[in-house]
Amino acid sequence: MILLLGLFKQPDYTVPSIVSSTTTNLRNMHEYIVNLHMHSLFSDGTGTHAEIAQAAYQAGIDAVIVTDHNLFIEEFDRYWIYTEGANTRRVLMIVGEEVHNQAREPQKNHLLVLDTERELAQFAPDPARLLEQIAEADGLAFLAHIVDPPAPAVGEGDLSWVNWEVSEYTGIELWNSMSEFKSLLKTKLHAIFYAFSPKRVARGPFPESLKKWDELLATGRKVVAVGGSDAHAMHASLGPLKRVLFPYAFHFQAINTHILTPKPLTGNFATDRKIVLDALRQGHCFIGYDLPAPTRGFHFQAHTKEGIRIIGDEITTQHGVTFQISLPQPAECHLLRNGRVVKTSHTRKTFVYNATEPGVYRVEAYIQYKGRRRGWIFSNPIYISR
Ligand SMILES: [Zn+2]
Ligand SMILES: [Zn+2]
Repeated sequence: MILLLGLFKQPDYTVPSIVSSTTTNLRNMHEYIVNLHMHSLFSDGTGTHAEIAQAAYQAGIDAVIVTDHNLFIEEFDRYWIYTEGANTRRVLMIVGEEVHNQAREPQKNHLLVLDTERELAQFAPDPARLLEQIAEADGLAFLAHIVDPPAPAVGEGDLSWVNWEVSEYTGIELWNSMSEFKSLLKTKLHAIFYAFSPKRVARGPFPESLKKWDELLATGRKVVAVGGSDAHAMHASLGPLKRVLFPYAFHFQAINTHILTPKPLTGNFATDRKIVLDALRQGHCFIGYDLPAPTRGFHFQAHTKEGIRIIGDEITTQHGVTFQISLPQPAECHLLRNGRVVKTSHTRKTFVYNATEPGVYRVEAYIQYKGRRRGWIFSNPIYISR
């Protein structure tokens, strides 16, 4: 994705650091910040893997998942280590790929593939077959930018997912940063405005994406939602003027996927890679838009007779369940059951809800930022069945 724009002033990319430190909640889970879905110069991004890792380190996040188009490059799957005086900080880099059929017209059906440890792009023409191969390899598959409006003003087509008959996937990319950017580009002037006002872009997952997720969940299957940056660090130029739009470090402080893990990361790459991927696989994660305010510390837990359960967990109970929701700061917050709001709080930091009905429960929170209401936190569900 290359945009050629007239650029005359330095964009405002200044963002507060969200340096991550592990936090624990009531079930002694550890929280880490992951940014996933991005492209290096091996496909249509502009940064090296080293530059991506450096940007993650600067942004203060814990892990990045690089997904170049139809290309699996195993050698960068490792820890990147930085020293600050006597301190050492690590950035975990997991390499997956974004697989799609390049011969398909129009282009659709991009799939984020993780943890297969082998190239599977050759199966791209048949999404069902590709998903079978991923399942056989015990990998993870997330349907990318499931709703992706076209932006003809800048020559970008619609890359939505369309083959909904498939089933063997881990989940969906509910919120994709660049799809949202595309949706705002009615003209080239809009492109210039938003390229230089990147903090005004993100508003939340598209309503159609949330509706589709609720429909998928209503079929009775677990569907893990993640947020993706789709970072490319695009180059824009006009004559001798050159700028990088949406640098990696900007994305890494914006739409992240926060994971909850039962054990802390150890510093051993193989162990920690598995911890991160397992959290994603189980849906022990929420999407946090960290630019308006850090989302670290968000909790959505179910207190049952059997103990405390967290997002992504499935509960079978004959008894009632008490949900406890805790936000990092007071905000508009909704608890939904089967896609319908059952409780709302506008001003509180914490609230509880006694659930007596089975269903798929999830949380959405919104925050005021840059003059409008914007999506802030989207949790994975807690699933209650009888
Ligand atoms: Zn894509
Ligand atoms: Zn992508």
